[in-house]
Amino acid sequence: MNNYLNLLSEFNAIVGTGNVLVDEPMKYHTSFKVGGPVDMLILPHNYEEVQKLIVLCREKDVPYFIMGNGSNLLVKDGGLRGIIIKLTGLNKITVEGTRITAQSGALLSDVSAVALNNNLTGFEFACGIPGCVGGAVAMNAGAYISEIRYVLESALIVDDEGTLKRLGNEQLELDYRNSVVLKRGYTVLESVFLLKSGEYNSIKALIDDLQGRRTDKQPLEYPSAGSTFKRPKGYFAGKLIEDSGLKGVTIGGAQVSIKHSGFIINTGNATAGDIMSLIKYVQNTVQQKHGVELHTEVRIIGEDE
Ligand SMILES: Cc1cc2nc3c(=O)[nH]c(=O)nc-3n(C[C@H](O)[C@H](O)[C@H](O)COP(=O)(O)OP(=O)(O)OC[C@H]3O[C@@H](n4cnc5c(N)ncnc54)[C@H](O)[C@@H]3O)c2cc1C
Repeated sequence: MNNYLNLLSEFNAIVGTGNVLVDEPMKYHTSFKVGGPVDMLILPHNYEEVQKLIVLCREKDVPYFIMGNGSNLLVKDGGLRGIIIKLTGLNKITVEGTRITAQSGALLSDVSAVALNNNLTGFEFACGIPGCVGGAVAMNAGAYISEIRYVLESALIVDDEGTLKRLGNEQLELDYRNSVVLKRGYTVLESVFLLKSGEYNSIKALIDDLQGRRTDKQPLEYPSAGSTFKRPKGYFAGKLIEDSGLKGVTIGGAQVSIKHSGFIINTGNATAGDIMSLIKYVQNTVQQKHGVELHTEVRIIGEDE
């Protein structure tokens, strides 16, 4: 049952009719292409709207969750009670000298393209990460040669009381797939990246190289959320999983990718329940065979059916 319909008119008054989706299936908003309905999915278009939504949720005691592109999210089959604020409508990118300011809903691939076109180097690592800026800052996303923490100068955030703050790199406590944003439940509105002047052809060559490595090694033809597990200290999750004989293991429509054991993929008709069962099976098997605990990198939300 949807518990928040009585607030529909107040949410509509903030973001405008058409930007509040009721009982919205989350399979349409996540790269795994699974997930039950959220009570309301709300699509703001400016910072003031985001602030107002957060304040209203706090006043009315409505649980809210912030999302970007849903590329690191597993929503369970019973969906989520409360609201999801999806920030993909805030996607402006501006350049001033060697600084790029990007709103949270801007795609990393777009920021990377803007950097290339302005002969700025340092953002190439993020070109193939299929998320938005806010999600990447929250997760301190990284790949191959760099991480968000090495290029982020500051971020404008809203805390859970609706107060705006600009936090510098140190204050953001960027760590391996973690940050103060996740720890304190902040919402990132925009981020400033400090890059270096570079040369178009070498930036382009690096982007092509990194994209090529991804296409060769990752099962990009299937829905997934990228690496399912964090890298345990001293190991690689994918290698541990492969050495445990789990490559290709399937539960329902969820499979440990044959191309890259670190990825659980949706072969077409997976439920979130299949993916959850496979995650647990992999964790248990790796624990038994290698004595190593695997923790999910993928953020899991919602309730079982
Ligand atoms: C094929 C594939 C390859 C991938 N490769 C990589 C990789 O190489 N490196 C890597 O690090 N990740 C990788 N990922 C995972 C994912 O793309 C990144 O974690 C990305 O940064 C998530 O961004 P998003 O906008 O999709 O976030 P979402 O999935 O929408 O959210 C992820 C988390 O961030 C929080 N969040 C999102 N936006 C905000 C915001 N504005 N303010 C506060 N919190 C927010 C959410 O609450 C949630 O906890 C990959 C995923 C896929 C599907």
